[in-house]
Amino acid sequence: MDQKTHIAIFPSLPISHLIPFIEFAKRLVLDHHNFHVTCLLLTTTEDHISPSRAKMAILDSLPAAIDIIFLPPVNLDDLPEDHKLRLTITRSLSSLQTTLKSLLITNRLDAFFADLFGFEAIEIAKGLNVPSFIFFTSNALSLALFLHLPNLDHELLSSVRFLSDLPDPIQLPGCVPLPSNTLMDTMQDRESKSYKSLLNLSKGLYLTEGRIVNIFLAMEFEAIKALEANDRMPRVFLVGPIVKKESSDDHDKSECMTWLDKQPRGSVLYVSFGSGGTLSSDQMNELAFGLEMSGKNFLWVTRRPNNESSSANFLKQSSRQSQSQNQSQDKYFDYLPSGFFERTKGRGLVVESWVPQARVLSHGSTGGFMSHCGWSSILESIVNGVPLIVWPLYAEQKMNAVMLVEELHVAMRLSCGENGIVGRDEIVRGVKEIMDQSCEEGKKVGKCMNELKNDAIMALGEDGSSKKALSELAFMLLNKASN
Ligand code: UDP
Repeated sequence: MDQKTHIAIFPSLPISHLIPFIEFAKRLVLDHHNFHVTCLLLTTTEDHISPSRAKMAILDSLPAAIDIIFLPPVNLDDLPEDHKLRLTITRSLSSLQTTLKSLLITNRLDAFFADLFGFEAIEIAKGLNVPSFIFFTSNALSLALFLHLPNLDHELLSSVRFLSDLPDPIQLPGCVPLPSNTLMDTMQDRESKSYKSLLNLSKGLYLTEGRIVNIFLAMEFEAIKALEANDRMPRVFLVGPIVKKESSDDHDKSECMTWLDKQPRGSVLYVSFGSGGTLSSDQMNELAFGLEMSGKNFLWVTRRPNNESSSANFLKQSSRQSQSQNQSQDKYFDYLPSGFFERTKGRGLVVESWVPQARVLSHGSTGGFMSHCGWSSILESIVNGVPLIVWPLYAEQKMNAVMLVEELHVAMRLSCGENGIVGRDEIVRGVKEIMDQSCEEGKKVGKCMNELKNDAIMALGEDGSSKKALSELAFMLLNKASN
């Protein structure tokens, strides 16, 4: 190991956490040069046997100053889905401790970065006297919720068991009011294990020397000021938007990029529900008819419908065997309405499971994004100025949707019918409004998104707030290392 400042990063399992961690590490080693990063990677028995191609693509293209250590795989087969995220970490703690100790014997280790779910890992790093930081992959609104949850639990929430029984929206300092049913599903029942576990996560936020948040100041100015006014808070560094960077020598010849090349500028609606979102069969059917009836061009990333869960693929990211040469599209995508491909021929492309999203959003043909509102997807849309239609599914996405629609005005909302399903006519309305920008709402959304994109570019520019925050963090880490 050279004399560079050495930091370890420890993202939790989902690929959507790995991506911003790796991009953050790249910024440190490429912009500030004197850093070496070791990424401690969680693995499960499932992804040990067949790691997703998407994950391997990320890990195969790292700069020399970033190393990967794969922690031994843990078995999650005995766990319910909503416990897997946390317990992968819990079950990896002893191997993490061993790895950190051996890193400390052979090298210096100047800082340790985990995400919110890694607070037990932060306790371990602190026990080894390694300065520790949270890299928060979401926004100030969610950070405020986690910070205030213990207090809310004592005061406001103590009167109810189910959050949906609260009569008024929850008002976090400096944030848009949140109707209680927009808080995470795992938070809705105060007696549930998942609620208690989230309450516990809040603790980790106070253990660290600093919090790195993937936002920029102009985006959530009031929320940030309110967070900074809390003097129990470790320092906050706003370094975003950190999104996947497109390299100019990365010539992606995947089918969807070639297809996008042939479409008119700004004509394509990109439809995707993140790394793991799934729709019910009925909803999928309505969406298919809505896209068809809108008459607009679309690129739709689909997954086999799931009637039980809206995040059925979140920790899997696995895809079915790819379509074989002699299998027809109708047969392969047997969950889409019969004749869908024939009727949308030439203006619709359906890809199962995964596309290079950051490239899709930066392509000139992409003019709108129907999104599940995962934070990375939102940031990727903002840096490219692509207006959104919100379709939140799980985690903090309903809160994100409230912020995008009601505070930032960069997205449109679709209304659900009484059956809880967004109907095809409503989909046609939303798609036309965002893609034509002919109505007042569509125009306003387009204009606000463009302004926000410019704010994001400024934040990352030479004298921008995020660029400065990253330099200050780098300086703080270098200083710690030299002491
Ligand atoms: N992503 C991608 N291709 C896909 C779907 C997702 O590259 O087909 C990437 C996307 O660009 C983003 C991440 O996966 O960086 C998804 O993160 P997000 O926070 O939006 O959602 P999550 O997957 O956590 O729900």
